[in-house]
Amino acid sequence: MTLRMHAITIAGSPGGERGARMGFSRARATLPSKVRPPSGLDPRRWPLWSLTRPVLCYLFVVEIAAVATLGVTANLAPITPRALAWCGLLLVAELAHLEAARGIERIRELGADGSPHMHLQSIWIFAALLLLPPPLVAVVIAVSYTHSWVRVYRRRSVLHRKVFSAATVILACAAAGAVLHAGTAGHFAPYPPLIDGFGGMLTLLLAGIVYFAVNYAMVVLMIIATNPANPGRQALGNLSDVLVIGGAVGLGCGIALVMTVRPWLLPVMMLTPLALQLGLLLPQLQAASRTDSKTGLVDVSFWHEVGQRELLRARRLTSTVGVLIIDLDHFKRINDRYGHLAGDEVLRATASAIRDHVRSHDFVGRYGGEEFAVLLPGAGGKETLAVAERIRAGISAVSVEVPDIGGPSTSTVSGLSASIGAAVYPDNAEELTDLLLAADTGLYAAKNSGRDRVVLG
Ligand code: GH3
Ligand code: MG
Ligand code: MG
Repeated sequence: MTLRMHAITIAGSPGGERGARMGFSRARATLPSKVRPPSGLDPRRWPLWSLTRPVLCYLFVVEIAAVATLGVTANLAPITPRALAWCGLLLVAELAHLEAARGIERIRELGADGSPHMHLQSIWIFAALLLLPPPLVAVVIAVSYTHSWVRVYRRRSVLHRKVFSAATVILACAAAGAVLHAGTAGHFAPYPPLIDGFGGMLTLLLAGIVYFAVNYAMVVLMIIATNPANPGRQALGNLSDVLVIGGAVGLGCGIALVMTVRPWLLPVMMLTPLALQLGLLLPQLQAASRTDSKTGLVDVSFWHEVGQRELLRARRLTSTVGVLIIDLDHFKRINDRYGHLAGDEVLRATASAIRDHVRSHDFVGRYGGEEFAVLLPGAGGKETLAVAERIRAGISAVSVEVPDIGGPSTSTVSGLSASIGAAVYPDNAEELTDLLLAADTGLYAAKNSGRDRVVLG
């Protein structure tokens, strides 16, 4: 686990987009990302260096231990052609699974803010542990994490967190591998043909528990160390997430067994996690994530919760937070002229234009009908106004093809404008409601002075 546990392996890793702001490191930019080089290119600006010294030491110890483990276990067992074929199959299955479940994993990680994110890729990692020699297990872990990083986490998370997670999974696999090795009288993978009877069942159970516990303990410790202000219980995550990992380990066992005796049945086994994830978890998580179905943005109450958390954090770090309220100008005219469905299209395009003009860790919500609110953690007055201007320009460039009322023809809606009210913590106000009030005052001043402008409240 990491702050989001990945796969089970429980691989947890701290984090998420907002995890990035949860102390596990948070890059605080002073200029909008659009006008500065990406911080990843400059090692001096890596969020890694914002960690406290003890956390940094812990992180390096875990990573060095993982590298040492890879070295020590590299030659323990031969890499056979059959192991290579299994490894290839598991990689294909892992890639297909994550691609199909990418959307839901994003939502799950977002919801795991400040808690371990249990990631279901553990199914494939645990299956690899049962089937493959250690270096190939490491390949499966590396591919799984790299894939998740590129396709799921990159825009929200911080790289060092994911590297830490991968290191905890390597150590968890080594510990569970030691259990399997001991339980099979000193043999190496593939374990399924060697594990049988009551003793075999106990060995497998113990290996699963060790895999989970080692990963979970390391991730929870990291979360507690990096978010000391959060309640310890939050770092432990939900029982349901822990059970998800239990399920993933169990499925991993089943898949390893099927692959040793009936490899052609693997696609059938793959349907199980996918169906469970998409059929059971997705609806549950969509309800929990509280997004607005029209625009895909978060709703007001979720935005408020995040806003309160950001202010607490800013207070602790003596940082700043910018708040924007954006209201489309004369939006009613679009509804009147093109109809409500066309209006909805324009709202969607506006939401997407706003998202395109903020940094990945800024937080955009739909505040009401055609009003949006943006939270800009770490932004001061100058930066908040710069982002607001960028958003205003972005909205003015929106162009949407909408169907004409009652006809097959279409029209292009463009030339939109928006009025934006801005406020900054702590300059304008210290509480979220007062900040919103200040931004709202700015918005009304913008409306009253001709619209299509940004006013600081
Ligand atoms: P201004 O803000 O510049 O004063 O003018 P406006 O026309 O935008 O006025 P106001 O903010 O009062 O009106 C908002 C309109 O937005 C009224 C309502 O019909 C429309 N609206 C609110 N929610 C939705 C929605 O979900 N879909 C569509 N199509 N229209 C919506
Ligand atoms: Mg309005
Ligand atoms: Mg309006």
